Amino acid sequence: MSYDYIADNVARIRQELDAACHAAGRDPAGVALVAVSKFHPAAAVAAAAAAGCTVFGESYVQECLEKQAALAHLPVQWHFIGHIQSRKARELAGRAALIHAVDSLKVATLLHKHAQEQCTVQPILLQVNVGCEAQKHGVPPENLEALARQVVQLEAPSHGGIRLDGLMCLPPWLEDPEAVRPFFAQLATLRDRLQQTLGRHLPHLSMGMSHDFMQAVAEGATLVRIGTAIFGERPCTHAA
Ligand SMILES: *Cc1c(COP(=O)(O)O)cnc(C)c1O
Repeated sequence: MSYDYIADNVARIRQELDAACHAAGRDPAGVALVAVSKFHPAAAVAAAAAAGCTVFGESYVQECLEKQAALAHLPVQWHFIGHIQSRKARELAGRAALIHAVDSLKVATLLHKHAQEQCTVQPILLQVNVGCEAQKHGVPPENLEALARQVVQLEAPSHGGIRLDGLMCLPPWLEDPEAVRPFFAQLATLRDRLQQTLGRHLPHLSMGMSHDFMQAVAEGATLVRIGTAIFGERPCTHAA
């Protein structure tokens, strides 16, 4: 299996990201590309790393840990972007440079406890259900402030544990990416408001995927999560 196409895809995405930053008057250094490698084999990740990708996103704990072990020799970071089940929190804590999709105090508390056991700081984002879609995870926008207040109450920087770094969203899939823009703008507004009420900087907005990352960058994304446009279509079943 040749993964030559991955280098071409990465080069193209980088150009598009640079163009989106330029159009928005933003520094490209302020937008990190998270290459979403879920369901794709370790060899595909290695090809993307050779093409310059340094951050990979995974959605399943087992698959994430297996790829980390297989690719331990590579100088890359792993982000966990999937939904977190309580029973997986122990395995995950301390194993991802950033956990994007925390949406309950229960999971935040478990991650905090297990990170503290390892004396490690675990950066997290809170996932907001900006489209208020019944089938999607994420805290409803109206409950965000209450959850964020509880989460930062847990923080104890000198003892390790979680640290709230920003917000993430997975908005409705809409054919026209311009139609998704209001959801990205909403997440940015929620972040700005939360910075005010908490009185602290929340540096990250994780938003935008293959289909709509240009619009997300225009609205302030600092992390774009791109899978298909780098690795191609995912196999439809999950082996793990
Ligand atoms: C799979 C996934 C992505 C990548 O989506 P693409 O459309 O393939 O770019 C981004 N974010 C999350 C949360 C995902 O689960």
